[in-house]
Amino acid sequence: MKRIFILIILVNIFTTYCFAETVIFNTKTHKYHKPGCIWAIKCTVNCIKLEKKDAVKHGGIPCKVCGG
Ligand SMILES: [Zn+2]
Repeated sequence: MKRIFILIILVNIFTTYCFAETVIFNTKTHKYHKPGCIWAIKCTVNCIKLEKKDAVKHGGIPCKVCGG
């Protein structure tokens, strides 16, 4: 039972990162980054996690380093 629970969590993480395309959106500069981008990691104050399509909807600009 515990194994199934862990599996569900892993699948959830996988789908969040691979299918929904979660990006790190900077609310101040309106740039969005891939979760692994150095600028996304450095950005701790004004950044929120969003789906890529929502970031674009909010006027997001893809990061020049990671491509968004
Ligand atoms: Zn970036």
